[in-house]
Amino acid sequence: MCGIVAYIGEKQAYDVLIKGLKRLEYRGYDSAGVALLNNDLEVFKKQGKVADLEKTFNNKFPEGKIGIGHTRWATHGEPNDVNAHPHYSSDHNLAIIHNGIIENYASIKKELQSKGHQFSSETDSEVFIHFIEDIQKNNNCTLDEAVRIALTKVVGAYAIVIISKDNPDQLIAARKGSPLVVGIGEANGEFFLASDATPIVEYTKNVVYLNDEEIAIINRGVGINIKNIDSVEQSPYVHTLEMELEAIEKGGFDYFMLKEIFEQPRSVSDCMRGRLISEKDHALLGGIRRHLKDLVEAQRIIIVACGTSWHAGLVAEYVIEEITRTPVEVEYASEFRYRNPIVNKGDVLLAISQSGETADTLAAIELAKSKGAIILGVCNVVGSSIARASHEGAYTHAGPEIGVASTKAFTAQLTVLYIMALMLAKAKNTITDNQFKDLSRQLESIPEKINTVLSLNEEIEKISELYKDASNFLYLGRGYNFPVALEGALKLKEISYIHAEGYPAAEMKHGPIALIDEEMPVVVIATRDSSYDKIVSNIQEVKARKGKVIAIVTKGDALIPKMVDHVIEVPATHEAIMPLVSVIPLQLLSYHIAVMRGCNVDQPRNLAKSVTVE
Ligand code: GLU
Repeated sequence: MCGIVAYIGEKQAYDVLIKGLKRLEYRGYDSAGVALLNNDLEVFKKQGKVADLEKTFNNKFPEGKIGIGHTRWATHGEPNDVNAHPHYSSDHNLAIIHNGIIENYASIKKELQSKGHQFSSETDSEVFIHFIEDIQKNNNCTLDEAVRIALTKVVGAYAIVIISKDNPDQLIAARKGSPLVVGIGEANGEFFLASDATPIVEYTKNVVYLNDEEIAIINRGVGINIKNIDSVEQSPYVHTLEMELEAIEKGGFDYFMLKEIFEQPRSVSDCMRGRLISEKDHALLGGIRRHLKDLVEAQRIIIVACGTSWHAGLVAEYVIEEITRTPVEVEYASEFRYRNPIVNKGDVLLAISQSGETADTLAAIELAKSKGAIILGVCNVVGSSIARASHEGAYTHAGPEIGVASTKAFTAQLTVLYIMALMLAKAKNTITDNQFKDLSRQLESIPEKINTVLSLNEEIEKISELYKDASNFLYLGRGYNFPVALEGALKLKEISYIHAEGYPAAEMKHGPIALIDEEMPVVVIATRDSSYDKIVSNIQEVKARKGKVIAIVTKGDALIPKMVDHVIEVPATHEAIMPLVSVIPLQLLSYHIAVMRGCNVDQPRNLAKSVTVE
């Protein structure tokens, strides 16, 4: 994970770097640091958030029009001042910021130590810059050549930017596995580099996404030169960013997470726009259409994902199997990649990831590709690694998601997956025209229904007040609402640090029922669907053991409110798409509980948004 940012141009680098780091803080917040070059190459770094860095140095940093900055999610060495980036080379002439992991750092470190190198940190990143320094000295070559040689020898993932005291007009950057975007400034020869486009968008919309194993040599006033690891010149393709600045600011909300929860009516309709028109019997995802034949012929669809995206995958499994009759398997990407899975030529692998940078999902893609699978990606971040590693795919168009706990990206993923299921069902003729129309109409009415649930915010806040001190929570659901139970429990764990478990309601009696007593809040997602009667019995089982039940029910339900402690009513919809509605109160519940417990909702401890390490 980690966020990196760098600047070269005519502005004060410090301003650009600090602002950029604050935007990237969602990627890690164990420490923050900058290196600024004027006459000296000076490093300022501190454990904690960017605000701690500013406070420690009283917001006084030297002037300088070139610099690099880093916000860390520690992988090698605990989060402290010394392990914070940037890291110097041994002569302090170079400094590096690094996102990723150098897997063979230990052997490189040993070799360098035998040559007299001393290390002040425990990080792999410091070894990386010493290694580059060593190569440059031994080969008497340019810095970019030394970087290139180093890259042929390191194993692992990286996005790096290096600054050199000997060349105050140059930055060298490279990437493999971790993201890196180069913004081309409006002023001549001005460049911005960052892990994603959020620190760049206010200055320029013209960006180049570096590809794996590419090295960018950026010279002030001259321009950018890109070559690959074999020294072959590459011609950069300049993309235009579609992101707007408001999309990455809080807009009056206390937290990004709350803003993003409230954005869902819009993000879901943005996601459907032009892709789903019930009146015209139209369900179309451009990229997927190009592989529709492969999807129709596939014997099997394998979904790989992690975390919240994996929950979206579970919902997709249910709906794809139900309406298309194609067998679907959902796997954790981290398990899939290490267990020699069976993948046959012609299988379709669907990779779901908000950031499009999830390391395990990327590795699962490469594995499935090597076995002849067709790869379709579902990502939120445009131009991300997964989007580029896939044969085709569909963007979720939810806009930048900054809160670490995913909300609007989840509902946008579901929306894309529903449209994909409808396309496939139509192509396979496994759905009647009426069913198609009904489902697509219901999908079109979802934004309005999410709005209705959002209007219950205060009611949900009151319920949260009663349970904010609980130590455990149980979430139960059946059918399509089972993945929603998992997602509700995950949200609560992530941001409030309350232990929570999601379970299929009927599984409760095979274990978790032993936990239920009068202290245990149990959230039951019990909307009116084909398993309604069954879940009513499960609620009774909880009540018989004095558990406190918060039930999510369909508006107008007369039965469940009589049995439970609290009800949250949501509008009725088709059971297959109910997760789009029933997850909303769970997002709000975890948000309020976390705020009441004094937690930093947007940046929960130990987590980071984009998991670019395995
Ligand atoms: N491996 C580096 C460190 O621990 C970078 C970590 C990362 O990118 O997540 O400092």
